[in-house]
Formats: sequence, structure tokens, C-alpha cells
Amino acid sequence: MNRAAERRRKIHSRAAAEKAATTEALRLHTLARLRLTASEMGVMAVAGSAVVLLARLLLPAPEYVWLRVLLLPLTALFGYAVTRATTVRQYGMACLATIATVSLNAYLGVLGTDRPLMNFLPAALVVMLSTSFFWITLAQWIGGALVSYALFVPLMLFDAASRADTVFALLYALPGLAVGLVSHQRIQDFQRRAFEQECRLAELAVTDPLTGARSRRDFLQQAEEAAARAQASGAPLVLLYLDIDHFKRLNDRHGHAAGDEVLRAVGGVLQRMLRHHDVFGRLGGEEFCVLLPDHDEQQALAVSGRLRALLAEVPRPDRRLTVSAGIARLRDDETVAEALNRADLAMLEAKQGGRDRVLMAA
Ligand code: GH3
Ligand code: MG
Ligand code: MG
Repeated sequence: MNRAAERRRKIHSRAAAEKAATTEALRLHTLARLRLTASEMGVMAVAGSAVVLLARLLLPAPEYVWLRVLLLPLTALFGYAVTRATTVRQYGMACLATIATVSLNAYLGVLGTDRPLMNFLPAALVVMLSTSFFWITLAQWIGGALVSYALFVPLMLFDAASRADTVFALLYALPGLAVGLVSHQRIQDFQRRAFEQECRLAELAVTDPLTGARSRRDFLQQAEEAAARAQASGAPLVLLYLDIDHFKRLNDRHGHAAGDEVLRAVGGVLQRMLRHHDVFGRLGGEEFCVLLPDHDEQQALAVSGRLRALLAEVPRPDRRLTVSAGIARLRDDETVAEALNRADLAMLEAKQGGRDRVLMAA
């Protein structure tokens, strides 16, 4: 495979992985939101079944009354499981179990009436339509539709439903399915768009608009998290502190727009050069810090060498673009602030030593 094709394949697989990660994140986000209303839905499922059960007692020949009474706590139990679900799969199974008990209750309630199929129809439609917003995936929606409508089959086959009732039941059931599917899809689209917008806003809130670097606060937070992971696993973690040399001079002689242009280009270089899980932040005016997980000092030195070579190609009107940098590897017993301070001191020493160089922190 030639290099261009290999590159395209890599970009493609990274985009696919990012899309899958977004879908997973969206599903978990939806799960968290739906769980907020799950207890309400559970209460309605139990209360609805209880009301229909009581109403049936007013009509002649109620059947399976005790079984229906016993189904109520089961509905409550499955409804409670919905509120406790931590994965999308658990959630789907608990919802299906809840509506299965509700549907079974409705089914048992229509037995012994004059036209069971027609009496069951509204219950199936209510369950089908009222849960359309509740499913997180299309597979779950299909499962829900099957569970809601499953009991049509014995009513049509074994209950000697009239031809007219069968035709009417089908006439209502089919548009019910279509409406349920369309509303499920629309709600999913809406959720996806709202989620993407929230992600974009969250990203904007933590990104420096000029350079694309993380803001100081977000960078420090990410550094704390990476440090906790590294210290727990024993993997190395390095901080690389960079400061552009004689930047004030550039501003003073060529204006702040020229300075901004250089800052933007530096951000672009960092963005292109670093790995997906490296993090870089703008800590101050022309000061950046890079977080290199799984790198020791020597690897960080190699990264800084490549970085300085690429930065040297960034056009700067007054002189070659150079940076001074300090490298500090996080120790087992130190905080991010302490490691950052050591990297900063090493950078200042690099400045004093004549700039355009990288030093290891003591
Ligand atoms: P040294 O080599 O010692 O680092 O000198 P320096 O001139 O780079 O450092 P100094 O700290 O004296 O100056 C940093 C300058 O960066 C001062 C400030 O005006 C400028 N600066 C800070 N933020 C921005 C910005 O967003 N845009 C531009 N154009 N300049 C900025
Ligand atoms: Mg500075
Ligand atoms: Mg500087």
C-alpha cells in the first residue's frame, strides 16, 4: 500500500473510531437523561395497570385477577431496575421487562370481554406510542414494538376475533407502528443535535480561540487527571514547558497582529505534531505546556527536538522562531503544580543560558 493510501486509511479509521466514541457517549448521555424520568414512567406504568385492573372489576367475568394483582409489584420492580440501570443494555432489558408486564396485564384484562382484540388495541397503542421517546437505540425500539404488539397474535388466532375486528386492529396497529418509529427517530435526531451542540460549547469553553490550545484551567485539570492515572499505573508522564523567545520584540516592532499570527501558527504546529492523547495548553501569553503521557525524559527530549525543528519553519518577520523549554518528569510523590514549577524553572534557566534550547529540570 502506498503512503497516501495508508494515510487515508489511518484518517478513515480514526474518524470511524471517533464516530463510534461519539455514538457511545451520546447513548450514555441519553441514558443519564432518561433515567431522570424513569421513576415517573415506572409509577405511571404501575398506576395505569392498577386503574385498568380496577375498571375491569366493574365489568362481568373478570379473569386472572390475582395473577394481574401479582403482576403489579413485578412492573414496579422492573420499573425500579430501569432507574438503576448503568448500561444502555441493562436499561433496554429493564424497559422491555416493564412494558412486557404492563402489556400482559392489559391482555389478561381483556379476556372474557365481548371483543378482546378491540379492547386490547388501545392498550397496545398507548404502550407503543408513549414509550417511543424512551428507547435509546433502534434495536430497543424494535424490541419495544414487538413486546407491545406480541399479544395481538393470540387474540387474533385463538380468540376467534371477527374478521372486521382483525382488519380494524391491523388498520390501527400499522400507522401506530409508523408514528412510533418516526417519533423515535425524530427524538433521537433531536438528542444527537443537542448533544453535539453541548459538546461544541463545552469544547469552546475550554479552548483558546487563537491557538486551539486548552485553556490554562482545563489544561491543569487534564494534567491532574493524567497525573493520577500515571501515578496509579506507574507509567511515565512528562511536562514540557515552552516559551517563545523575544516575543515582545516581535509585537513591538511588527504589531500585535503579527504576534497573533505567530501564536496561531505555533498552535497549528502543536496540533499537527502531537499524538491524539497528548494535551497542550496555553498557560499565558506566549507560553505553552505539553503533557506527554507514556513518555520518559529522553522521549520527551526527542519530541521537543522535532517540535523545535517544525517551529523554526514558522515564518516570523524579524528572526527565526525559537523557543526555550524545560522538561520535567512527574515524580511519584509530587503534585502537578510542583512538576510544572520544575519545568518552568528549567525553561527560565534555558532563557538565561542564551535561549533556543531545552533543559531537563533538576
Ligand atoms: P523571552 O525571550 O525572555 O521570553 O522574552 P519575551 O519577549 O518573549 O517575553 P515577555 O514575557 O517579555 O513578553 C511576552 C509578550 O507576549 C508580552 C505580551 O505583550 C505578549 N503577548 C501576550 N499575549 C499575547 C497575545 O495574545 N497576542 C500577542 N500578539 N502578544 C501577546
Ligand atoms: Mg513568557
Ligand atoms: Mg517569551
